[in-house]
Amino acid sequence: EGMTIVELAKRTGESISSLQSILVNVGEKVDSEFDPLSIDVAELVAMEAGINVRRLHSSEGSEILPRPPVVTVMGHVDHGKTSLLDALRQTSVAAREAGGITQHLGAFVVSMQSGASITFLDTPGHAAFSAMRARGAAVTDIVVLVVAADDGVMPQTLEAMSHAKAAKVPIVVAINKCDKPAANAERVKLQLASEGLLLEDMGGDIQVVEVSALKKTGLDNLEECLLLQAEMMDLKSRIDGPAQAYVVEARLDRGRGPLATAIVKAGTLECGQHVVVGSEWGRIRAIRDMVGKLTEHARPAMPVEIEGLKGLPMAGDDIIVVESEDRARMLSAGRKRKFEKDRLNKISEGRTEVLELSEEVPERVEMPMIVKADVQGTVQAVTDALKSLNSPQVFVNVVHVGVGPISQSDVDLAQACGACIVGFNVKTPPSCISVAATRASIKILLHRVIYHLLEDIGNLIVDKAPGTS
Ligand code: GDP
Repeated sequence: EGMTIVELAKRTGESISSLQSILVNVGEKVDSEFDPLSIDVAELVAMEAGINVRRLHSSEGSEILPRPPVVTVMGHVDHGKTSLLDALRQTSVAAREAGGITQHLGAFVVSMQSGASITFLDTPGHAAFSAMRARGAAVTDIVVLVVAADDGVMPQTLEAMSHAKAAKVPIVVAINKCDKPAANAERVKLQLASEGLLLEDMGGDIQVVEVSALKKTGLDNLEECLLLQAEMMDLKSRIDGPAQAYVVEARLDRGRGPLATAIVKAGTLECGQHVVVGSEWGRIRAIRDMVGKLTEHARPAMPVEIEGLKGLPMAGDDIIVVESEDRARMLSAGRKRKFEKDRLNKISEGRTEVLELSEEVPERVEMPMIVKADVQGTVQAVTDALKSLNSPQVFVNVVHVGVGPISQSDVDLAQACGACIVGFNVKTPPSCISVAATRASIKILLHRVIYHLLEDIGNLIVDKAPGTS
């Protein structure tokens, strides 16, 4: 907001005259180079100049109010994520009043008698979580980590922990299937503790609840823990003004066209507004709440279905409100060109700069890494070796470690946090995985000698942070 072409030139390193000619090309008129550009135009010009743009939203001068938490359920397959979501869905007052939630939105709200509410994302699993994060959508506030009381901590439990940790999202543990005779909640707690989760029972601050999705026990308790966690996080959003929202799911309806489930993070999304969604655009023709009722607007943490987009967006796409159809069309076209260019760039090489439309420059270069190795001892040795590269300029952040071959989930996580994957003494991954990694410009480093590995990483660091070594 209010950036002039001179400032934009300074930030992007482009010349003023080339930015001006882009302005003319996109049909914008600016009389003086000191006239502020609207944020939409600034974004468009930056994109045309080949620079990635991320909008940072200010909440200046408007009312900030507490909002419900947005929660994602993660955990090992068959530990009861879907069952738990179903059980929680049925506890919602709104759902009971409406005779059940008929349509599938991709998210639902549990409203409690107390008036408080919690929004649950309905796509369990870390694939969805990571896919959203990879597109820059920080929608989830809290992760419920489901662990079956009879089965205990399993590989995907650890993966889920890593995903949550990498996203800096706090965890509430739900030990499920406590109705089973073989259930052993204490054993699960010990396992989690030995994986580094600081549980409340043991003096930490991670809450643990014992539940049964089948018998519907412990659900109130879980909801209370989530509200308590939310309270500690002091979740607040600006409620007025243009919405900042994300797509959590999208589908094509034969009669109504593209439909997107959106969650507003801040501001209010209103019927009739012109929007750009990812690289699509449209005008919001209808907004429906989770029981399918038409509503005029959507407020923070409220999942809604929006109708009126011209194309199908993707999960994790941002939704921004623009002032006119022309702007929407123009930004969408600009983003499409940019995404296509990026895709081609990625295939050929990969590194692109991100311009944040605000101040703040990171001082220390972070190198997120995922470590996979043949045995636990090697995992530890490689992790320690990588951490030895830490310096005031460089922070090697090992976001996930594991024993075994490099998996799709590793690639998802790497994409979500911009990590590279180190495979030590492991098999070359199957081509579907290396192709997926290449497509997402994720580096996979396969090594059998620590010295060679460190040399490789050293080169990466020099690439990333010239002037450090
Ligand atoms: P997901 O793969 O994590 O989504 O797991 P599901 O929700 O599909 O559950 C896997 C299986 O565990 C199903 O057969 C469920 O009926 C069963 N299950 C889920 N929760 C419970 C529970 O609390 N108690 C018992 N006994 N079984 C459960």
